[in-house]
Amino acid sequence: MNNLLWKEVVKFHGHECPGLAIGIRACEAIISKMNIKPKEDKIICITENNTCPVDGIKYVFGCDYDKKNLFYKESDELAFNIFNASNNDSLRIIYKGKNNTDTKDGYMKYILSADIDELFDFSKVKYDL
Ligand SMILES: [Zn+2]
Repeated sequence: MNNLLWKEVVKFHGHECPGLAIGIRACEAIISKMNIKPKEDKIICITENNTCPVDGIKYVFGCDYDKKNLFYKESDELAFNIFNASNNDSLRIIYKGKNNTDTKDGYMKYILSADIDELFDFSKVKYDL
């Protein structure tokens, strides 16, 4: 996990929390699985949750509801459907990490340091654009 990026996104979000940690690790995973170039590729996201993790997506990919490259469809999973408009690639990322600590801080540290494949599952997108 890139420390500088974490500091920047915490500033953007307003506080440190496990949810934001999930969001930023999800971005890291998406970038590596889809070979995304964050400054060049045009990313569109359909998020299935509308809480802290979304701020990671907003910060890293520049997605926002106002810009029409971020959409919300509620589900019971903490998942993001990501579309790369530059090459029509798409991927759904689902959080599956478990809190096996008894503090919020411990949980956050676990998320920030665990292996990507321990934290997330990947599948075909559930929603289409
Ligand atoms: Zn938060």
